[in-house]
Amino acid sequence: MGYDCDVIVVGGGPAGLCAAIRTRWVKRYKAIPCSTLLIENSYLGGLASWRGCLFTGPSWKMEGKDVVRRLLKDVEDLKIGVHQGRVSRINAEGEVKEVFTSDGKVFRCLAVIIATGIKALVNEKDYLGRGLEVTSMGYEFIVSHLRKVLSRRWEPRLVVVGSEKLRNLIPLIRELNQDRSPLLFVMEGEGKGGEDVMRGWIERYWGDGDGRLQGVTVRTSKGPRKIRCGKVLLDFNSYELAPAWRMEIGTEEFGSSFIKINQDMETSIPGLFAGGDVTSGGYNSFSRAVAQGMAAGLSAYRYIYHKKFGTYPPLFAYRPTDFLIPSDFEELPSLDEDLLPKSLVDGKEIEALLGRKWAGLSKSFNGKLSIRKMAEKKNVAIEDLKKVLKRLAEKKMITFHIDLIINRPGGNTFRPL
Ligand SMILES: Cc1cc2nc3c(=O)[nH]c(=O)nc-3n(C[C@H](O)[C@H](O)[C@H](O)COP(=O)(O)OP(=O)(O)OC[C@H]3O[C@@H](n4cnc5c(N)ncnc54)[C@H](O)[C@@H]3O)c2cc1C
Repeated sequence: MGYDCDVIVVGGGPAGLCAAIRTRWVKRYKAIPCSTLLIENSYLGGLASWRGCLFTGPSWKMEGKDVVRRLLKDVEDLKIGVHQGRVSRINAEGEVKEVFTSDGKVFRCLAVIIATGIKALVNEKDYLGRGLEVTSMGYEFIVSHLRKVLSRRWEPRLVVVGSEKLRNLIPLIRELNQDRSPLLFVMEGEGKGGEDVMRGWIERYWGDGDGRLQGVTVRTSKGPRKIRCGKVLLDFNSYELAPAWRMEIGTEEFGSSFIKINQDMETSIPGLFAGGDVTSGGYNSFSRAVAQGMAAGLSAYRYIYHKKFGTYPPLFAYRPTDFLIPSDFEELPSLDEDLLPKSLVDGKEIEALLGRKWAGLSKSFNGKLSIRKMAEKKNVAIEDLKKVLKRLAEKKMITFHIDLIINRPGGNTFRPL
């Protein structure tokens, strides 16, 4: 059974970017990379690319967007595929996972990392400080903040957006507003609305030629609704209590709630990992997202490696802890003849490196032709071909897919003492 890539990372915030990078780059150069696809609903960088997000402080800090810029460079240098679209469903049962996007595409992979944060972002960033204001940092300053926003009249209305937990703020907002501005509360998610409460999903913020916010489009169960407003207050606190990331995972355990993980970012479903704000535990921050994303990426790498080579990668000395290192120990795994080389770069780059003897070889790196068949086709010794393939893998130009009908060699070569 074929598949498109080893790993799919859903969400391109700091957690997703770090996860994707680690499936490709791992801890050092000599490693067999994964074929990885990153799927992002809006723009790469997530919340960390917003003005004012700092990594970390108080006596030192880096701007979130500067760190994101570096992460994006790594994604580009490592040639990690990016697809723009919203993941609407994941079928995580079975060995091959299916990831469905709202534009009708289906991607198949062996492992999925969920890094969707607390909210599916749209184009909020374009209107920050230009009619769109956010609450964050808990409820410590909420009363003074709301008093300020509600002290003036907003025409034709003030829209307050949040998750279902926006419910906590509604009475206070109504009280402080004192009928000054017409109010509309948009609670992201499915369910029943009310007189001034709408249920649905924010699709887009829009504005005038000067880039000032003029309204918002909400996708409701009855279709899109365009709502004009003078101001939007986006209550991030509510998403910290209950996220709204709008994706079905075909089991009852997951939904629009935080995802439970163990210390390796594994969920209870084999091959399904999660990291960043979407995981339960709180203390959401850039640094936590980076750390968890990185751990999720490494765990997915390890999972995939075991599937392909029947052994765990020697990159992780701490697990399994004690093992006897034989004198013929190899840093890279031996390549089974049934492995299916898959290109991660443009074929021309591979050809330029290999020279004339191997000309045309890169055309076969489609994840469908085995090493054995390739050697036959090229009429070359299989060991010579394997040496070339290892060299290309070390340079992150190819990886290996597996034919899931063929049984991989089982067992872990690092046996505990
Ligand atoms: C206003 C504000 C200020 C902050 N300031 C700081 C700060 O100064 N310092 C700090 O450390 N932290 C700060 N944070 C928190 C920090 O930004 C987050 O903890 C961090 O960005 C989380 O990273 P993440 O990758 O888990 O999620 P996010 O950054 O939220 O990224 C998740 C990504 O997944 C995408 N996504 C969601 N659903 C889907 C889907 N179904 N399909 C495809 N893509 C999807 C989203 O569009 C988004 O791009 C701030 C947060 C806010 C809201």
